[in-house]
Amino acid sequence: PLILGIETSCDETGAALVRGCELLGDDVASSVDEHARFGGVVPEVASRAHLEAMTPTVRRALDSAGVRLADVDAIAVTAGPGLAGALLVGVSAAKAYAYAAGKPLYGVNHLVGHVAVDQLEHGPVPKPAVALLVSGGHTSLLLVRDLATDVVQLGDTVDDAAGEAYDKVARLLGLPYPGGPPIDAAAAGGDPSAIRFPRGKWGDGSFDFSFSGLKTAVARWVEDADRSGAALSVPDVAAAFQEAVVDVLTAKAVDACRAHGVRTLIVSGGVAANSRLRALAAQRCEAAGIELRVPRPRLCTDNGAMIAALGAEVVAAGLPPSPLSLATDTSLPVGQPLAG
Ligand code: ATP
Ligand code: MG
Ligand code: FE
Repeated sequence: PLILGIETSCDETGAALVRGCELLGDDVASSVDEHARFGGVVPEVASRAHLEAMTPTVRRALDSAGVRLADVDAIAVTAGPGLAGALLVGVSAAKAYAYAAGKPLYGVNHLVGHVAVDQLEHGPVPKPAVALLVSGGHTSLLLVRDLATDVVQLGDTVDDAAGEAYDKVARLLGLPYPGGPPIDAAAAGGDPSAIRFPRGKWGDGSFDFSFSGLKTAVARWVEDADRSGAALSVPDVAAAFQEAVVDVLTAKAVDACRAHGVRTLIVSGGVAANSRLRALAAQRCEAAGIELRVPRPRLCTDNGAMIAALGAEVVAAGLPPSPLSLATDTSLPVGQPLAG
């Protein structure tokens, strides 16, 4: 079946066409530049941008796949989690397309989509797999027995998400929003061992994470440098901060695989674009005999392909379509790949 996927949970308007594990066409419009001067996503601005971008984005996705709406077998849309107004634009559009073209509608989970997208790059996800989901709003370890029907959360952040920590630390260092890419770039010229920042929840036996203590430690380091008039090495602070983040993420991800006898680790979400996370995960997985799968950076950040990929799984599993009364759910739990 040919699936149209629509994504609007945050500040990217995404549309894509997928058949099984094959990505046929994909288009993303982002309002990230409009949010940059506020240092974070402004929900009202994001909703309006989705409204303007929706139809052209779907059009470009269909064109790039060389198909028409009439060729589509089902429409999958992000039902949650995400920003209320942003989700509403995507779900409303998907309902309109589904109703107009007489196609079944599936409201799916954005977080599981971040994992499902790996199938478009590396083929069917082995069952079971462990997924490390690291994004702007989430940091979780998941046991994935089946993308459409059986996803269990093993651990979660108890405070900030990893991407949120990058964004906050970037602001402390005077780097632009979103903070992941500039910190990644600055860290390349720094010494990760120059400063030893705290590793939250290290070795506590849980699969949970904590990044607020790390953020506070960086803030204190920057204040101390200010006060003493010492020169602050942004590359060193960026590298040391980044090392603290990816050290815990990769250690716990490998532990989760071991604890559950799983041989495949998938790392996904916006922070999976991070070069040091990719390198350290590769090194530690190789040492532990675990297969590592990380989608290319374009598929790690928000896009329509991830939603179409999960939609394809849900359709293949024979799950029932969502009603046209499908509601958005801003806090849809990760254990529910299909909303409702
Ligand atoms: P969620 O999926 O939890 O709803 P989101 O969709 O906003 O949140 P994504 O788009 O998946 O999140 O990821 C955005 C985050 O990824 C931002 O916090 C950004 O700083 C971070 N990020 C992007 N590139 C990198 C990078 N190279 N290194 C570290 N972080 C990065
Ligand atoms: Mg975004
Ligand atoms: Fe996301």
